Amino acid sequence: MANSQPEKSPLETYGKIGIIGYPVRHSLSPIFQQAAFHDRKLNLLYEIWETPPDKLESVVASMRSSNIYGANVTMPFKETIIPLLDSIDQSADLVGAVNTVVKSEGQLIGHNTDGTGFLEALSDLGLTPEGQTIMIIGAGGAARSIAFALSQKQPSCLIIANRDEGRAINLAKSLKATAYNAMIPIAFTKTTLQEWVPKCDVLINATSIGMYPDADISPIPDKLIKSNMFVYDLVYNPIETVLVKKAKMRGAVATGGLSMLIYQGAHAFTLWTGIPAPRDLMMQTIEAYIAHQKPNTKD
Ligand code: NAP
Repeated sequence: MANSQPEKSPLETYGKIGIIGYPVRHSLSPIFQQAAFHDRKLNLLYEIWETPPDKLESVVASMRSSNIYGANVTMPFKETIIPLLDSIDQSADLVGAVNTVVKSEGQLIGHNTDGTGFLEALSDLGLTPEGQTIMIIGAGGAARSIAFALSQKQPSCLIIANRDEGRAINLAKSLKATAYNAMIPIAFTKTTLQEWVPKCDVLINATSIGMYPDADISPIPDKLIKSNMFVYDLVYNPIETVLVKKAKMRGAVATGGLSMLIYQGAHAFTLWTGIPAPRDLMMQTIEAYIAHQKPNTKD
């Protein structure tokens, strides 16, 4: 039976949460997090804390002494913030990066919700990574989070393709510490794609290729995509990238990165507030915002 009592907020006094990054002015997190706070009747303000690198220490210090409940952390501070915190949980320790800070009893605790958010987004596609041959294109921060998350699910093979091959090799080396050994780091070239893409069940774009304003390009030649593949593009602006469109046209199951963005944010919301996030509302808010912002595809 439905509970007719109004839901009690775990955060009863006014407080602030912010996103720390540089540059971070164009972050979408304030849009959907503020909508979620409003929906759940939380007296919270979500702010953008544009933080030049030499100000990181003072921004983190100010979180200790004020009515601040926590933060999101984005580029370029996901790693450098760690020594400034009191502790990090297992999710952040595994990846060596923090995207969410929670203040609890005066302590600043780092978490990483990117990997969980990504795995949930894959699960929406009806995909379980266990036993799959998966290619991640990219070896930057996002690729790193999802590679660690995937390695916990024992795919049969994880191919890491990056423009700078050395970065792909380094990522593969650090994954070995998780006792997952089936990685193949390769250079991201036409020839290597031709060789490796047809062997894959799952393709993941973790580069910025295809992102607005260069929204008319794709990291993978269309003809290499097979109808039985799953394609996940971390790019979410445009909502449907050229890669996603072409993959769907070739019969593959494909989606863009908005679901990961919302799910990592939903986990952060719950860490700060202790209550479930209104995920559908967060998604609808951000879809409407992006659609209203710019006509971001050319067709
Ligand atoms: P990052 O750390 O700067 O890494 C960028 C990656 O893209 C590197 O691997 C880089 O290769 C590669 N790259 C960039 N331009 C390229 C090009 N023209 N050709 C080939 N490779 C290229 O960035 P990040 O944080 O990992 O983000 C990567 C993408 O994921 C961005 O589009 C970001 O918006 C998206 N993202 C989405 C979510 C989500 O929730 N959906 C979360 C995080 C990030 P090199 O190493 O060779 O430079």
